[in-house]
Amino acid sequence: MRVTILGAGTMGHGIAQVFATAGNDIVLRDIEESILNDGVESIKSNLNGAIERDKLTEGEKVAVLNRIETTTSLADAVADADLVVEAVPEDVEIKQETFDDVAKRAPADAIIATNTSSISVTEIASVLDNPERAIGLHFFNPVHIMPLVEVVVAEQTHQSTVKSATDFVDNIDKNPIVVRDSAGFASSRLGVALGVEAIRMVEEGIADPRDIDNAMSLGYNHPMGPLELTDVVGLDVRLDILKYLREELGERFRPPQLLRQKVRADNLGKKTGEGFYVWEDDEIVGVSGKRRVD
Ligand code: NAD
Repeated sequence: MRVTILGAGTMGHGIAQVFATAGNDIVLRDIEESILNDGVESIKSNLNGAIERDKLTEGEKVAVLNRIETTTSLADAVADADLVVEAVPEDVEIKQETFDDVAKRAPADAIIATNTSSISVTEIASVLDNPERAIGLHFFNPVHIMPLVEVVVAEQTHQSTVKSATDFVDNIDKNPIVVRDSAGFASSRLGVALGVEAIRMVEEGIADPRDIDNAMSLGYNHPMGPLELTDVVGLDVRLDILKYLREELGERFRPPQLLRQKVRADNLGKKTGEGFYVWEDDEIVGVSGKRRVD
């Protein structure tokens, strides 16, 4: 199968890698040569990691890399595609423009997928003359490690497109879940619901952030508690998602005051050194607010 990936950033190069590893021919397209080179270097580094862990041979690495072509030309990238996956920035206008450009240049029966993590797939697909072939393929970061792909079914998506999309996901050895296009899909909606309740528990003084996180990591076997995960994702990012989910789904997603206050104070989590925890060199060194009285 010929698969075109648009955007070679964090997600795009990872998506290219997993499709190429499964034996597909890939064209990776970005707007600048240097970004394509960086993307290919990241793929090489991921494949070298797999060799070190005895999951791949040197010969298989060469074969995977040989299956990936790069280009800055959209027309060349999509001309023979069976599947196009866009991983361009999270902006509805850029995504609609990308879908429109692809539809004009790709074969009429190519499936056009978006890796959006929050935008309505129905809205992105609305620019197409034949939107039955549009779908969401929501990958998780880092793509070569995370086993889940959310298959997001837009209002216009045809059942045969859903079947092809789940087959593609099986082909790359990932686990598909099929979700109707709605705010937060399944993954973000559930993940954020847990995070927002954990923040309310901190506000109400129910328990210390560490104990709330331990409840989920030690009691439910989550790899990371909901407050630590909020720090890793970024409090500003979570606040934006909550605002959107509240608008679409109602008051249960109302952002807590504590979250708003921390964002106002620029305590955005790991990236700024403080959120619900205090971070140094990417490690938690204390609980936010605590160290002043410790
Ligand atoms: P990124 O900024 O790392 O990469 C986007 C790339 O798209 C850039 O390299 C940019 O040069 C390129 N680009 C811009 N316009 C383009 C065009 N017209 N054609 C081709 N390339 C173009 O972003 P990312 O984190 O890889 O996110 C991409 C998409 O994946 C977004 O929709 C995002 O919401 C979604 N997503 C991200 C994550 C994550 O953890 N980063 C997880 C799941 C989904």
